[in-house]
Amino acid sequence: MCPTSDGSHSLAAIVCDHVASGQKPILLAVRTAPEDPDDSGWQFLCASDDHESEDQAQVWLLSEVLRKHPELTWWVSSPAGTRLGRKDERSPWMPV
Ligand SMILES: [Zn+2]
Repeated sequence: MCPTSDGSHSLAAIVCDHVASGQKPILLAVRTAPEDPDDSGWQFLCASDDHESEDQAQVWLLSEVLRKHPELTWWVSSPAGTRLGRKDERSPWMPV
């Protein structure tokens, strides 16, 4: 079940509360430099401004995100600094 061999899928990723609860699709994916070895640096966000505070973001395993959103698998080894966006759930991911 593991499409890559680098072990990155057991790392943590930040998911905004809308995405975590299934209210909104992921429309923005950003990779920052990881702060610790268990962090992938990935943030998966709905791209709306409707975030009262960052506290509502959740930490998921990268593997969980990819299980629900396999279209992101291809991008997951992109380097820190990568920003991906898409117009809607059916649009392809593009660097932004
Ligand atoms: Zn959100």
